[in-house]
Parts: sequence; structure tokens; C-alpha cells
Amino acid sequence: MPDRNKPCGDRVELQNSYVKLPDRFYQKICPEKFSDPKLVLFNHDLADELGLNLSDASEIAQLCSGQRLLPGSQPIAQAYAGSQFGHFSPQLGDGRAHLLGELKGLDLQLKGSGRTRFSRRGDGRSPLGPAIREFLVSEAMHALGVPTTRSLSVVTTGETVYRQDGPTPGAILARVAESHLRVGTFQYFASQGDLEALEILTNYTIKRHYPGIRSTQISDCCLELLRLFAERQGDLVARWYALGFIHGVMNTDNCSMAGITIDYGPCAFLDEFHQMKVFSSIDKFGRYAYGNQMAIVEWNIHRLADCLLPLIADDPQRAVSMAEQVLEEPLASFHNRLYLGFARKLGLKSLPEEGHTLVIDFLRYLQAHSLDFTLSFSHLRSLYEGDTHFYPVTSELHSFLSRWKALDPDLYQMDSINPRLIPRNHQIEKVITHANQGDYQPFEQMWEALKSPFEVSEEYGYLMDAPKMSERVYQTFCGT
Ligand code: AMP
Ligand code: MG
Repeated sequence: MPDRNKPCGDRVELQNSYVKLPDRFYQKICPEKFSDPKLVLFNHDLADELGLNLSDASEIAQLCSGQRLLPGSQPIAQAYAGSQFGHFSPQLGDGRAHLLGELKGLDLQLKGSGRTRFSRRGDGRSPLGPAIREFLVSEAMHALGVPTTRSLSVVTTGETVYRQDGPTPGAILARVAESHLRVGTFQYFASQGDLEALEILTNYTIKRHYPGIRSTQISDCCLELLRLFAERQGDLVARWYALGFIHGVMNTDNCSMAGITIDYGPCAFLDEFHQMKVFSSIDKFGRYAYGNQMAIVEWNIHRLADCLLPLIADDPQRAVSMAEQVLEEPLASFHNRLYLGFARKLGLKSLPEEGHTLVIDFLRYLQAHSLDFTLSFSHLRSLYEGDTHFYPVTSELHSFLSRWKALDPDLYQMDSINPRLIPRNHQIEKVITHANQGDYQPFEQMWEALKSPFEVSEEYGYLMDAPKMSERVYQTFCGT
């Protein structure tokens, strides 16, 4: 165990590789001053991984709200653009976030830490609720094996922030990520015709996230980057589907170049299964519905390709056909990745033709009976053993059972990949309601439980249950 009584400053020194890029990539700016930062929750395990030796709550609150900076830190707000619900915004950027620097090659960023040049009309703040939601869901995703940003801490600022639903405590989330590079970062420079910046950004992205790319020609680098990026995104989104996760706002500015889940806003996990489920209050037309996510990610990949075309070839037509060619294979594999994810949940090792139809029929059955997605998979072992109490007994179920058993499913595999616990919306809402009144115990308990989603101890059994009708959450909000 590291000695937490030692001051962190004598060991830790933040690096700032992004600050070495040209000025137009960011704004140098410190987090704002806040009247009374107080620690809500600190992820000691993650801090230990980063080599941060911190134990004193008030010191943590000072550091994790940006009131004191760690040695070496040069805070910046990063510039980026983004296609939001399909419409291009040329200048978004960190309007309420500060990148403090890097520790062990990972970005340390504060969110909710004040205004920047990119704030537009925003107040630069975050309410406590969304900070808690991001903390819980991102840490749950990590425990579930999904590439994601991590959450280091939640600190209240002592301020009140005002949103549609009234005044709430202000808070700052400290998060850790492979990087905060987005497809939107490329769009920012591409839309300005700044090819020099695009090349710098491409090389930086490759060095940080795709070091296996060795080409010396920028054109080859871009093509290889596109291919590998598409593969990572395909893998990521297949994992989302397999867990019933809906990101909710998969705009290009929320699409990570490192292939991790980033920017947890109105995200949610499915309770009852519905292919086109939408929770986000701002997703009026279901663009980011559960079952649309693969297509949307493909759309985002094409937006990255658009940005890289001028670096791929001088002749636009030629550049397009080269990009299309390199994307053909990864995009064609999306469908299979998705079905393989479900086949594995059914205990199959591969995806035989029969497995494909089995997956479709099982999901149809879940939807027809509004069955809880997570429980429908975690109860499969007992179904296999003859216990049908969870499942409506219909001819579809009989047909599924006989075909499924004929494929000889691996029950251990099922238990190891079908979680028993996910961060359910109604439980997150309860945690937030308590936290807004100063009671953080439910937050701590839920976080503790989410660390072991496959083996849930009895005391946390209540977190596994599907919501009762009266507890159901129908909409989630981004809290901006
Ligand atoms: P998000 O919904 O957090 O992904 O944010 C989308 C864009 O809006 C980003 O450029 C954010 O920095 C900006 N933004 C969101 N909320 C605020 C806020 N309260 N103040 C300033 N900028 C914000
Ligand atoms: Mg965002």
C-alpha cells in the first residue's frame, strides 16, 4: 500500500504533451475559484494506480476542484467542433472543463470547473447530479470491462447552480482518460482548412493511441488510423449493445479517438428490452436510440474520414475511394461483432447461422413481453436448468429452449459475461436525490456494489431488481 501520509507533491509531476502543440489547439486557462470545495467521494484505487498519494479530504477537495494545482500542471481548455444531432457546430471546445495535464500517460481533467473561451452562453458549471451519474456509470462500465473514461472524484463547489429543474449544488468531476481527443477535434481544424494542424493532430493521435502505425507517409498514416479507429469503435459499440447501454448523445464531439466511452450525459441502461429505446430528453427523433448506435457510429467514422481526405490524396475522388476501401472490412464486420456479442451472452463460442437467428428470436421474445434485459440474460442458467419462473412460457420460449440447448451453451461463460448488476436509472435517481440533500451514503453504497457486477453480495440485492412501475425512469437529462 502506498503511504498516504506523504505529500503527493514530492513524487507526482504532471506532463503536458498537448500544451506542446500549437496555441490554436487550446486555451491556457486555470479553473475558476470556488468558495467552499468539499469532497464527496474519492476513488482511492484509481488514485493509487496514478501514483497519487492523497488522504486528506480537504487537500483532495482543493486539488480536485483546481483550487490548488498539482506540480507541473498547465491547465488548458481544448478546442474542438462537433456534429450535434447531425448539425455541424464549428466551435464547441471545453466550455466547462480543464485538462490539468497527464499522469502516467493519462489525461486528468476537471469537468464543471468554470468558464473558458469555449463556454458560449454556458455557465461553466456542472450540477451535482450529472457528476454523480457520470461517476457511477463510468466506473460501472470499467468494472464491466468496457473501455471508458474513469472517475477520480466528485467535489461540491459550495455554489448553487441553476438548471431547468431548479437550484442544485454545483460540483466538479475529476476524470481520467486515455485522452480527450474526439472526432470533433479533427473537424475543428478540417472545417478551417487548416491542413497543417490536421497533420499535427493525426501524428499526435497516432503517437498516443495507435503507436503500432509505423508509416512515414501521412497518407498511409491517415488510412491506417481510419481502419484501426473503425475497428475500435465497432468493438466498443458491440459491447454497449451487449450490456443494454445507450450513450444517448453520440455526437462526433463525444466520439473518442482512443475508442473509449466518453461524456456520460443522458446515458442509461435498458431496463425492459426495446430495440429502439430512447431515454434522452433532447433526443426527440430517436437518432441515438439503442438500436441506432451502430449506424450512428458508422456515420461518425465517415465524418472522421471526411476530415482526413485532404491528407490522403490531392485528388478528392481518389481520396474518397481510398478511404472507402480501407473502411470496407471493418464496417462490414460491425453486424457480426454485434451478433457475436449476443451469441456469447447465450453461452456460444462463435456465431453459427443458427446462433444468428437464435439471437434475433430471443431478443424479439424479450421485447414482446417487455422483459428486463439484464435479468433475462442473468437468469439464463436457471432457465437452462428448468426454472421458468422469470420467463413467460410460450411457444416461442419452447422453440428457443430446444434450439439453444442443441447448441450446447457454456454456462460458465454466460455467468462470466452476463452481469447481475448494472447502474439502473431509478437507483441513480435515488442516489442523486439523497446527495442533493447532503446524504452521500447511497452514492457510496451503489459505487461499492457496482465494483463487482457479476457477483453481487446479498446486502446489495436491492440494486439488482428491475424498477417497479412507480419507480420507472422514462427520461434522462444531460444537465448542461
Ligand atoms: P456535453 O453535453 O457536456 O458533451 O457538452 C457539449 C458542449 O457544450 C461542449 O462544448 C461543452 O463544453 C459545452 N457545455 C455544456 N455544458 C456547459 C456549461 N454549463 N457551460 C459551458 N459550456 C457547456
Ligand atoms: Mg461532450
